[in-house]
Amino acid sequence: MHVVMIGTGYVGLVSGTCFADFGHHVVCVDNNPEKIELLQNGEIPIYEPGLDLMVAKNVAAGRLLFTQDISAAVAKADVVFIAVGTPSRRGDGHADLQYVFAAVDEVADAMIKSTLVVTKSTVPVGTNRKIEVRLKERRPDLDIFVASNPEFLREGSAIEDFKRPDRIVVGAETTHAQKVMERLYRPLRLNKIPLMTTGLETAELIKYASNAFLATKISFINEMANLCEQVGANVQDVARGMGSDNRIGPKFLHAGPGYGGSCFPKDTLALVKTGRDHNAPITIVEQVVAVNEQRKMDMANKILHAAGGSLADKHVAILGVTFKPNTDDMRDAPSLVIIPQLQKWGAHVVAHDPEGMKEAAKVLSDVTWAEGPMEAVQNADILVLLTEWDMYRALHLDEVAQSMRGHIFVDLRNVYSREEVAEYGLSFTGVGIPHS
Ligand code: NAD
Repeated sequence: MHVVMIGTGYVGLVSGTCFADFGHHVVCVDNNPEKIELLQNGEIPIYEPGLDLMVAKNVAAGRLLFTQDISAAVAKADVVFIAVGTPSRRGDGHADLQYVFAAVDEVADAMIKSTLVVTKSTVPVGTNRKIEVRLKERRPDLDIFVASNPEFLREGSAIEDFKRPDRIVVGAETTHAQKVMERLYRPLRLNKIPLMTTGLETAELIKYASNAFLATKISFINEMANLCEQVGANVQDVARGMGSDNRIGPKFLHAGPGYGGSCFPKDTLALVKTGRDHNAPITIVEQVVAVNEQRKMDMANKILHAAGGSLADKHVAILGVTFKPNTDDMRDAPSLVIIPQLQKWGAHVVAHDPEGMKEAAKVLSDVTWAEGPMEAVQNADILVLLTEWDMYRALHLDEVAQSMRGHIFVDLRNVYSREEVAEYGLSFTGVGIPHS
């Protein structure tokens, strides 16, 4: 099939490349000329494990192309995906749909035959219906077909997630749209991946409900961690005990500095707005959002407390600044709140991240970027483990302790234990771990 992917970000580039890997002919379009130039030169604008090799393989096979020319691409397409950003609208938290509607209009103008238009971007309930109306108004000469196909991949394991999803959700209300989507995903269907067909509104809501539920698990365990700290319980054991109940499951029950990234923060907020707009408030999610906002400041306070109440002129080494490991995405990372707060209290921050420093340097100021973790901890008064990249999981704690000026280790991901770091004379502060 001939597939066009509008938007070559974390979702569009991975989805387009995976569709090409299934054997479809894919043209990826982006209106950012720098991105397209990089891609045309064989470079990948984002960090996503394994993506470079898969892009190279499919470009070499002639199944994957990159262009800015939406008209030529859409003219040949059987199906056009919209995978542009839907960030929070400044001021009110609604999803900002300006990029989606701009892309839809460009697609409408470029169509020369009836083409299925599929929204992969996460869009609030009712958006696909509006897209359908908009396309019909702009192109009364063509039969219009739309589908909603929300994406569930996670950055850092995006290829695996795309190729082995738990389910594919397709909102499609015409036989044509359903058939095209079935054909497109046939390679996954052969692997017995379920494809669930629903109405447009239901598909849109499945995506928001899923993200909001996962965010709820995170805020839940974070509040449980607070209680553990007060009563001498261990949140890791609480999570393990809860998570081994099949009805609950162990995932998304890791206490830490709060959720971040390009999805949970904006999607929870947008769902809250949608609920209020339709007089069906989702008050649980409203609270989840509030808990997560508070969480980041609580973590800054935890570091201040571990430092004895003052950070004036203290050297703080931060390991990991991205919102999670295996991505360079800095959108809504907890570090964006925690680091400026530490600086406000007078700390000098030296940070390291294996892949995120380039992006982080654009949004964090007055941070000294270290070449490696050991360079970051040199002369530090306090060490903070903020993102659990694999390379931080086996630090040589003897060398760490020797390099540091102070002895305070704050582990916001509970990678280490108090006993382990105490052997090297370091004091330990974890999350939801008893004080001693
Ligand atoms: P992104 O910001 O990384 O990429 C969006 C891309 O679209 C950019 O490269 C931008 O230049 C391009 N673009 C915008 N308008 C365009 C236009 N008119 N024509 C061509 N290109 C255009 O965004 P993302 O992280 O890939 O997210 C895309 C959507 O997928 C969002 O709705 C997001 O909520 C959803 N989503 C993201 C993830 C994730 O992990 N990032 C996971 C699931 C769903």
